[in-house]
Amino acid sequence: MTTLGGRGAGFDRRTFLVGAAGLLASACSGGGGSSDPAATSKGPNIVRPDAGTVVTPDDTAALAQQLNAALEARDVDALVKVIDPEDFALADVRKRWTRRFDNFQRVPVTGEWYVGVPAGRTRNAAGGKVEYSGNLVFAHQIDGCDGQQVVETYRADFRKASEDAPLELLHVGEPEESYDPSFWDVAEIDVIETPHAYVAFRTKDAKTAKSHAARIEAGAKRAFAVMPDPRGVDKIFYALTWPQIDGRLYGGVAVGDADAHAYYHPFVDPAELAKGQKTAASGKGLPKATGRAGLHQASLSRADFVEVAAHEGVHVLANQWYGGSGTPTWAVEGLATWGEAGAGALMSRDGGRIRSYFRSFEPRALKDYAEFHDGGREYEMYACSAAVYAYLEDQGGKDAVFEVAEAFYGSEGREAGAKALGRSEKDLFAATRTWLGA
Ligand SMILES: [Zn+2]
Repeated sequence: MTTLGGRGAGFDRRTFLVGAAGLLASACSGGGGSSDPAATSKGPNIVRPDAGTVVTPDDTAALAQQLNAALEARDVDALVKVIDPEDFALADVRKRWTRRFDNFQRVPVTGEWYVGVPAGRTRNAAGGKVEYSGNLVFAHQIDGCDGQQVVETYRADFRKASEDAPLELLHVGEPEESYDPSFWDVAEIDVIETPHAYVAFRTKDAKTAKSHAARIEAGAKRAFAVMPDPRGVDKIFYALTWPQIDGRLYGGVAVGDADAHAYYHPFVDPAELAKGQKTAASGKGLPKATGRAGLHQASLSRADFVEVAAHEGVHVLANQWYGGSGTPTWAVEGLATWGEAGAGALMSRDGGRIRSYFRSFEPRALKDYAEFHDGGREYEMYACSAAVYAYLEDQGGKDAVFEVAEAFYGSEGREAGAKALGRSEKDLFAATRTWLGA
């Protein structure tokens, strides 16, 4: 059996950069409003905010409508026509969206473009042209997998040539790295739907997908049985990858030689993002994030493949709580390893290894991602992490498990997580050690 540790987490050392480019752009045109000459004779000087050339919500709505019409029709010519024919990146846009539109016919996904008015850069009081760079946002939602829209940002250039001219799209660049490439960008793909999963695959892997779908479904079913359902979610999206793209989807993850990965997709407000602001898409009771699982070919032959699928499924479902950053690795991997087969199976299979390694696990788990994954005994690190949740379940049921997981997933950093929980990691580990008799 290959190591449990190779499964990888949805978390890595990359900084989350959605929208950052938009926030860093400097003001390049425009200025304040000008006074209204008609108003001066009648009293106070009234500033007319719409004087000169100004990009209005009507302008952005008109541009978004053109993009959305092309999307709805799956018409790549119509999409390309929205962009300036002089754009040097037009061929890239055509290539990407030809493939996407084709794949979207087989994936149960809905999409929507958002164009916004960024603050401060979209007015020329003198009445000349306005040109600026900003975020063009593409939002999508896979039926049953995503409680809210998943957003990807493209760096784009816009122009309004004069007061009465429409807003033009001069250039569409690469997507933000967390979505480059998405699974539907890398091949002609198809999807098998099961009660708890979508199994996505390149069309040339159809036979493999068909023969493994029942076991992927079993893993997904297990993940849903063990985890609370994020609202609006009853399926997990699994992609069958191949060596060239193993671990490289959605910007890539840091664990190199794993057999499977979970990729993290946060829910960011698409309309705000289109204006250049990265704010969490909040909705009462709605999940804060979703994800995708990538299953490598090597994982398919594992004797514990159903557990691998369940493990990744738990990672994806746990993203419902993830609104912060710096969740301790043990809290992430422990939860997935606890959930993949259950505490009973964990302790009967690995109880001996857990007890003999637990005192070594504790100081490593209190350090960072690298200390957790590197330095050997990764199998024990995963198993000991899971034992913390086994202890919690034994003491307080699944509610106690989720209370701890949510505190660490939902907080900005591990100290804040411990504070939210009202219990330190050290204390949790010590109590688990006592419970284990280690
Ligand atoms: Zn994992």
